[in-house]
Amino acid sequence: LNGQTAALPTTIFTVMSALAQQHGAINLGQGFPDTEGPAHLVEAAAAALRDGRNQYAPLTGLPELREAVARSNARFYGLDIDPATEVVVTSGATEALAASFAALLNPGDEVIVIEPAFDTYLPVIRLLGATPRLVRLNLHDWSLPRDELAAAFGPKTKAILLNSPMNPTGKVFTQEELSFIAGLVQEHDTYAICDEVYEHLVFDARHTPLMTLPGMRERCVRIGSAGKSFSFTGWKVGYITAPKALASVIAKTHQNLTFATAPNLQRAVAIGLDQDTGYFTELSQGMRVRRDLLAAGLSDLGFGVLPSDGTYFLTADIRPLGAATRPGEDDVAWCKRATVEAGVTLIPVSAFYDPAGGPAPSHFVRFAFCKQPTVLEEAIIRLRNWI
Ligand code: PMP
Ligand code: GLN
Repeated sequence: LNGQTAALPTTIFTVMSALAQQHGAINLGQGFPDTEGPAHLVEAAAAALRDGRNQYAPLTGLPELREAVARSNARFYGLDIDPATEVVVTSGATEALAASFAALLNPGDEVIVIEPAFDTYLPVIRLLGATPRLVRLNLHDWSLPRDELAAAFGPKTKAILLNSPMNPTGKVFTQEELSFIAGLVQEHDTYAICDEVYEHLVFDARHTPLMTLPGMRERCVRIGSAGKSFSFTGWKVGYITAPKALASVIAKTHQNLTFATAPNLQRAVAIGLDQDTGYFTELSQGMRVRRDLLAAGLSDLGFGVLPSDGTYFLTADIRPLGAATRPGEDDVAWCKRATVEAGVTLIPVSAFYDPAGGPAPSHFVRFAFCKQPTVLEEAIIRLRNWI
């Protein structure tokens, strides 16, 4: 057995979803919408199966999807992307991340990861024999500690992982923060792996891919996901945009991870990406209404709600709840008790921190608000009755 892998805990999302099911709790933990994505895309996927799109897709993805990814890069960000050589379709962003790390990293390389961090990054970096350099966002407002970030770059740095809009914080990195990061990446002659799966879920801010900043076109791997942009998390279709030299190596790791991705789903996602801009505006506006509803309800209950400008998550401090928390109780214990006693499931934010970086904050919880407003209202009522 690989000891490193065997020692990994089961992902917190699976643990909390199982607990939610066991206790009949409203699941505001694992991030998946409770409303289906566009019906015409489901129809397109079903029709493609009937049309005989049932054999291996091309290694780097169906041409029609690669072309749609390139068009979408041009439409939203003004990027000029060659669909033949600069796009790779993967089985979800999860595979896109693994394929990108495997393409870039040699044993001994360092990768800068900003915490709190989505839980798939560190295990893959370590499996490749590379070392994560952890930099923690400031706890009161999730701002970027610039001096610490600059100090984390060094001769062994190969890349930085940048997740914006960011899970679990809902942070959308500001233009100034992006410029600062771009400066460091260039100064140290490194790359950026940009996890932008929530690119179309931004509320008050605008999403700017790091790749669009001066000097960054050739240094960035940009990752998107149909799960997030079209509310089909089960489809697991991801897409990578990267300069040709990088994309060709990523394609080689992809060929050994999954080789190809379901062609009928690729077809539907191509149609999805070409939808009117109105679709994307409605997606984020609908999510914004849900965020506002949940944030207001939680603030009323006494949670210390932190701002969320993007994703479908928000974080809240449970310390102001006072008596609703028990002495010495951490976020994990509190989330379990909320599931069992209140019937509402959340994710403890400490799960997004690595023990190697020191003790994790234990007073934040993450709420997923990609649920119908009536469900969010019911969750608030349950919490009110419990607290
Ligand atoms: N990155 C982040 C930040 C995520 O939240 C997720 C969520 N699922 C993924 C990557 C993986 O996306 P996919 O489901 O397309 O593999
Ligand atoms: N990205 C989703 C979340 O953060 C779920 C991912 C997963 O279950 N692997 O909740």
